[in-house]
Amino acid sequence: MSVSQFKSFIACEARTMYELKGQYKAPDSQALIVGSYVHSAFESPEAFAEVEEKYSDTIYKKRGGKYADFEQADRMIETIKNDRLAMIALDGEPEQMYTGNLYGIDWKIKVDSINHGKRRFSDLKTTQDLHKRYWSDKYGKFTSFVEAWDYVFQMAIYREIIKQNTGEYYTPYIVAVTKENPPNKSVLEFDPSRFDFELEYAEFKIERIKSVKSEGEKPERCEKCDFCRRTKQLSNVIEIGDLI
Ligand SMILES: [Zn+2]
Repeated sequence: MSVSQFKSFIACEARTMYELKGQYKAPDSQALIVGSYVHSAFESPEAFAEVEEKYSDTIYKKRGGKYADFEQADRMIETIKNDRLAMIALDGEPEQMYTGNLYGIDWKIKVDSINHGKRRFSDLKTTQDLHKRYWSDKYGKFTSFVEAWDYVFQMAIYREIIKQNTGEYYTPYIVAVTKENPPNKSVLEFDPSRFDFELEYAEFKIERIKSVKSEGEKPERCEKCDFCRRTKQLSNVIEIGDLI
């Protein structure tokens, strides 16, 4: 299990199972490519060159220069590199993998940056706007992008797996940079009480995921994602109140 696979199961079991069986791979979204581009800039020059090479058609215009999204990504990278606090928060060993067991299932995590001396780890996130509000069914209220993308959940799981490996709870930080021009930025910390809720949530959801993954229970379709839209066959009409 990984945090992204868990989130994928919550979003759509049918698509996740289809992907796990290797029958379907969602195309790399533009946002995902921009994300890897920005991340690789803080990993190593080799990693950055690798991403540039892999996605050169997406990044570079045929007549030279980069597409607007990547010019923006370059501004985001510069914004972080020019900020002392953000760079302190990102200071550590990049892209470290750990494994552990939580709720009877093996997990694998990849930490953007971990600093064993300071007992902290950090994750770099790109977002639209630091202060935008998103409706969250999980929390039953408007939240920031951090909750909306389940980053508190991610930090809670990472914190537990890192503890299993090091014997200690490390402090998580998110270094956030926005897609605005000029980009906004922030280093975010978490009140530790937030992690209890996330771990209870993981424990509550994991049995169903295990059962679907082992093909004990039939995966449910979300009827919203790209996979469900592509494979949908209508069999009934719905009242407008069921749309939201
Ligand atoms: Zn779906």
